[in-house]
Amino acid sequence: MFEKVTLIGIGLIGSSLSHVMRREGLTKEITVSSRSQETLDRAEELGLGDNYHLDAAEAVRGADLVIVCTPVGAFESVAKTIASSLSDGAIVTDVGSVKGSIIKQMQPHLPDNVHFIPGHPVAGTEYSGPDAGFASLFEDRWCILTPDEDADEKAVEKLTSFWKACGSMVDIMKPDHHDLVLAITSHLPHLIAYNIVGTADDLATDSKSEVIKFSASGFRDFTRLAASDPTMWRDVALHNKDAILETLGRFSEDLSAMQRAIRRGDGEKLFDLFTRTRSIRRSVIEMGQDVAAPNFGRADGSED
Ligand code: NAP
Repeated sequence: MFEKVTLIGIGLIGSSLSHVMRREGLTKEITVSSRSQETLDRAEELGLGDNYHLDAAEAVRGADLVIVCTPVGAFESVAKTIASSLSDGAIVTDVGSVKGSIIKQMQPHLPDNVHFIPGHPVAGTEYSGPDAGFASLFEDRWCILTPDEDADEKAVEKLTSFWKACGSMVDIMKPDHHDLVLAITSHLPHLIAYNIVGTADDLATDSKSEVIKFSASGFRDFTRLAASDPTMWRDVALHNKDAILETLGRFSEDLSAMQRAIRRGDGEKLFDLFTRTRSIRRSVIEMGQDVAAPNFGRADGSED
């Protein structure tokens, strides 16, 4: 599909792309670039590329697909670094969890002779770094592309085919819409998880050990999200500020309403809400975004 793909950033997402591109034979050559020599050396040990460069400008020379896989806050400096070395007609894309900010950071620096098509694979785990990747990460997960209205159709089609070959389903959205949808489906759940786990961490030491001991009662499901990469999530929070503040505002209002219902002993209100949310879980399973096995398929029989 491509002659040379350059991955800038080789953590969970970059290394997963390397694995799936190799498995599916999507490119003749994979070039890897990372900020630190340590990560680059590890990527080489793992055989994630055919060649390796600390200098991203050097890495993109001759590439017909460039995928930026760094934290959201790094995109402007990456765009400035690679701009003058990009090949005529290259597709430049990314995997960042926020779209509006990335477009603002990159677009002004990129030359007119490349096709910039922002993207976001909605797939991940709480692990990071080059060891974390695996070829099936994108299977049956959505990848959202947010091309400009006058983006080259052929380039969008080619990138769509690329993600489909990686196992994903592809959707096209406006960047602002993406940022609003993801604020509620991904960013808010992570921020709530960081908050609840942080609250538990602030408890007195004896209560804290009990939180860990009895975590199978629900708490541990939040700890998975709250174990996610701090740099990535700091950048997401700062770069999707407006949509996150909007959804956090609505969440706080709903939380206050729930507090009021509990204080007033309004069981009907609580029961209605808990019934409504149960059906959301069923829809998630019906859309193939989770398995129906109880307790997320855990084999240890822990209670909820
Ligand atoms: P990761 O595992 O932490 O890897 C990040 C990579 O970016 C490393 O190669 C790192 O290089 C490099 N990097 C970090 N800071 C940089 C900087 N300031 N300038 C240049 N390079 C830098 O990250 P990831 O989980 O793969 O996430 C990458 C992107 O995918 C993020 O934009 C994230 O929003 C998005 N995303 C993540 C997930 C997820 O679940 N993790 C899901 C979907 C999308 P060194 O190690 O050499 O410093």
